[in-house]
Amino acid sequence: MKVEDILGQLNPEQLEAVLHTEGPLLILAGAGSGKTRVLTYRLAYLIKGKDVPPGRLLAITFTNKAAEEMKNRLAGLVGRISQAMWVSTFHAACMRMLRRDAEKLGLKRNFVVYDEDDQRRLITQLMKDNQIDTKRYPPRAVHSRISVAKNEMLSPEEMTKKARDDFELVTAEVYRKYQERLLRSNAVDFDDIILHTLALFKLYPAILEEYQEKFLYISVDEYQDTNRAQYHWVNQLASKHRNLCVVGDDDQSIYSWRGADLRNLLDFEKDYPDAKVVRLERNYRSTNKILEAAHGVVVKIRGRKEKKLWTEREGGLPVKYFRAYNGMEEAIFVVDEIGKLVADEGYSLKDIAVFYRTNAQSRVFEEIMLRFNIPYKIVGGYRFYERREIRDILAYLKVLVNPEDSVSLRRVINVPRRGIGDTTIGRLEAHSRLYGLSLYETLFRAEEIPHLNAGTVKKIKAFRELLQELREEMLNLPLAELVRKVQERSGYLRELREERSVEAEGRLENLEEFLRVAAEFQSAYPQEGLPEFLEQVSLISDIDLYDEEEGAVTLMTLHNAKGLEFPVVFMVGMDEGVFPHLRSIMERGDEEERRLCYVGLTRAMDRLYLTSAASRQFYGGAERTLESRFIRDIPQECLEVVGGEELKDIAAAREREEAERLARVYRVGDQVRHAIWGEGTVTEVFLTDGGPEVMVEFPHLGAKRLSLAYAPLEKVE
Ligand code: ATP
Ligand code: MG
Repeated sequence: MKVEDILGQLNPEQLEAVLHTEGPLLILAGAGSGKTRVLTYRLAYLIKGKDVPPGRLLAITFTNKAAEEMKNRLAGLVGRISQAMWVSTFHAACMRMLRRDAEKLGLKRNFVVYDEDDQRRLITQLMKDNQIDTKRYPPRAVHSRISVAKNEMLSPEEMTKKARDDFELVTAEVYRKYQERLLRSNAVDFDDIILHTLALFKLYPAILEEYQEKFLYISVDEYQDTNRAQYHWVNQLASKHRNLCVVGDDDQSIYSWRGADLRNLLDFEKDYPDAKVVRLERNYRSTNKILEAAHGVVVKIRGRKEKKLWTEREGGLPVKYFRAYNGMEEAIFVVDEIGKLVADEGYSLKDIAVFYRTNAQSRVFEEIMLRFNIPYKIVGGYRFYERREIRDILAYLKVLVNPEDSVSLRRVINVPRRGIGDTTIGRLEAHSRLYGLSLYETLFRAEEIPHLNAGTVKKIKAFRELLQELREEMLNLPLAELVRKVQERSGYLRELREERSVEAEGRLENLEEFLRVAAEFQSAYPQEGLPEFLEQVSLISDIDLYDEEEGAVTLMTLHNAKGLEFPVVFMVGMDEGVFPHLRSIMERGDEEERRLCYVGLTRAMDRLYLTSAASRQFYGGAERTLESRFIRDIPQECLEVVGGEELKDIAAAREREEAERLARVYRVGDQVRHAIWGEGTVTEVFLTDGGPEVMVEFPHLGAKRLSLAYAPLEKVE
């Protein structure tokens, strides 16, 4: 494409940014205003208009998918030469640098990257070798603490110095040994990739200088979500030529829980006082109604810098809101609408996306889509029944039904870790082959197997007793309770709870969701038991409708949706506690959730649907929910409530009743106990739109306002 043609596709502000090639540049603008487009076109302009060799350009995107899209776009603008350019995520760019100079850090060039499992295995091993009590210091907890330290760029030595308690001291020690061992194994972990590159720069200034020289122009998309290490990496590289262009939107910062720091973006002008700042205000993506809705949600953030987007896409359909009676009805509504959009409105499946807050929520939608033959794909995650924790629990259940299933037994014999290591398993298997026994039968002969010491035999005994106990329970307990028991008694839940990481939280949510699957099955087929349940699950989990040709509906979490756009978007699970996510608002307030909601809403180009459910199934029964506060923040004129009127009236009446009932239970002066903050006194009771709330005075913390529907609160009699 000719330069004029490239430049002709930009508005005046965008053009200004693209033409400003020399010196630092900050593009600060709202969603869909063309930030990524400017970044891409600017690169094309540098190549075509300024004759910069592509090899001297570096562009950083937030995800691999975004990098892929940018590369394709560039190829369209400047042709094949764009291939010489570095367009990638931070990690991919750092990997490339590390591969080249790995030897300088004592690694071999063919070093391997340890995934989470490898990392944990190594840490557990190290702790055992050093006689560190793994009960007192759970390896998972140690592991996630090490990762946090790495993200804060703390070395083991610094961590030791800063340690505030025993746990951190021990962790720092494990951290040191862990790094040594990684090095000896010619391996790095995920966090190391960027830290090692920084170390390389520090130890070999000549290497840093070489890259500083090479990268004449550096651009970074989604700068609001960079962390400390990434910040240092980019700013060091840019310090020679100072042609650093960053683009971002403070309203879309959604990764602070992973160490991202918004100040990197907001302080850009402090870092580069001569920076040129460009703001973009015209949105090209969405209809006016969608923008107004999104603005209503984000405008409530305190201390936010106001920036409002406009669009020429006046009119447009209002945002449709459907409050279902329960989660199943919600999913059926979505699938039904998708069917209509495709049959009557000319959309194809690939135009449509369904966003949810947590991975576990995908399950109901997957199930209904499978049932109605709607192909779907999950981006940035796994299908529900492919997730590790689900497969582990399924393996336990299969063993209960059929102890001869050695594959399943093998899967869970040491999951969670119970000290039955690979060597022991090897011996058990050899013994079972020798005597033609199943692995399960062999467990009962552990005492006879040579080379198994008394400690190991004891562990095997404990495991077979666990299985026996669960098999007895299988005959007595209702299905959902049995599944719960398996999760509890196997130690699976405990291990995850102790980990206290975001990933573990996601896994716990999936396991919770699996209980719901069992509860649903039970109420649908009260006469059936575990074998029938497993049969049904295996039917669902084996179907794969995905077909590249036909396209598929995209399912993904809100976090993964960043930077993308779709003609039709469904945001599901718009319930208090689900979104905004309960744990997140309890720990950090609702602002990051609000920005996440803004991100989700602004992905939609033409049509936007929001759905919630008045009750959600729980394995102990149905739970009432309140609709998300974000729904109320959307201006009335942008929202069209759809669906059965009666249903809504009934649901609303029930909701009111429930709110009043809860409010009656608590009175001013009552003593209450909060699961985390301890005892306090009720000083006020409110009945708000979001349900009943109380003000509680805690002796050491002061007054806290709490939702009765969600706060872990009980009355002290
Ligand atoms: P986000 O904040 O969500 O990442 P963004 O600011 O990066 O959004 P882009 O994805 O670059 O926005 O652009 C949004 C949409 O608007 C894209 O489809 C893009 O092609 C289109 N667009 C941007 N600028 C123009 C323009 N000047 N003319 C036509 N279309 C444009
Ligand atoms: Mg973008």
